[in-house]
Amino acid sequence: MNKLLELKNVSFAYDRQTVVNRVNFSLHEGDYLAIVGENGSGKTTLLQGLLGLKTPSAGEIVRRETLNRLQVGYLPQQTPLQRDFPATVREVVLSGRLNRHGFVSFYSREDRKASALAMERLSVDGLANRSYRELSGGQRQRVLLARALAASNGLLLLDEPTAGLDPIVAHEFYRLVRAINRDDCATVIMVSHDIHCVMHDATHVLHLGRSQLFFGTTEDYLKSVVAASYLSHGETVSHEPACEGGIDADGTPTCGCGVSAPLEETPESDKGGRFSADDPDGHRHSRGGRCSANGEKERG
Ligand code: ADP
Repeated sequence: MNKLLELKNVSFAYDRQTVVNRVNFSLHEGDYLAIVGENGSGKTTLLQGLLGLKTPSAGEIVRRETLNRLQVGYLPQQTPLQRDFPATVREVVLSGRLNRHGFVSFYSREDRKASALAMERLSVDGLANRSYRELSGGQRQRVLLARALAASNGLLLLDEPTAGLDPIVAHEFYRLVRAINRDDCATVIMVSHDIHCVMHDATHVLHLGRSQLFFGTTEDYLKSVVAASYLSHGETVSHEPACEGGIDADGTPTCGCGVSAPLEETPESDKGGRFSADDPDGHRHSRGGRCSANGEKERG
């Protein structure tokens, strides 16, 4: 099993005030972890810890040797300043590679190739010369996902990536992340308040309330008392069938992402993409092969 990282009793504090207390979980290649919890429960702080931007006040984060924290793709929460960034789409995507260079700010051929591939993967290559600040909210998030993908060697950290997007655009964003997770073997950690949407795709859930209220498979989470009290109006969300991104004639997404439309049955061929979450711990195994140590798909 390709374990990517493990947190052992990890805590974080600001000015000696603990804001994340004793978190324990491990993540394997191909997993899709949803981090949920109320505002102020420590989700962003934990992401910063995983990025190596904040040191744990207690405990230990064990990363697989090949997981270079400077090559983790990160999509941070958006601020108005970032939205006004005066650069072209190509420059924004390329800037994701800067971490690899330290203070040397020129790009190699490899950087340009990785950025071009990421733009193509997210279908923003046609926008390459456009100014980032002139894009719509949905286009900007696609570009930032391409930036994270260009930076990443297999692990993506996404902090509230659909905040402020309308439901249809958010729905499309989830579809893209799902495809990257399932088809490209990327491991995804996503903080999201869109619990109804993210639950369809996530293999695992970490529920924070400063301390760890739950970690386990999505299936087990949805049966838990913690989830029952967190999900609004006692509504239930099923892990299957997956939210496949259909849109009704009136433009409404056909799954439960922010709307109450009934879920559609998923074609067998689409279930889990190239993976099936049939491991007892819910970790994904490729059907036609498995993800290799560097995140590429091996034929089995
Ligand atoms: P979430 O992402 O779940 O909303 P955060 O990780 O942003 O939670 O914050 C967790 C707690 O840490 C909050 O009480 C917040 O006020 C506090 N906090 C966050 N950043 C800082 C900081 N830079 N300095 C002091 N306290 C902070």
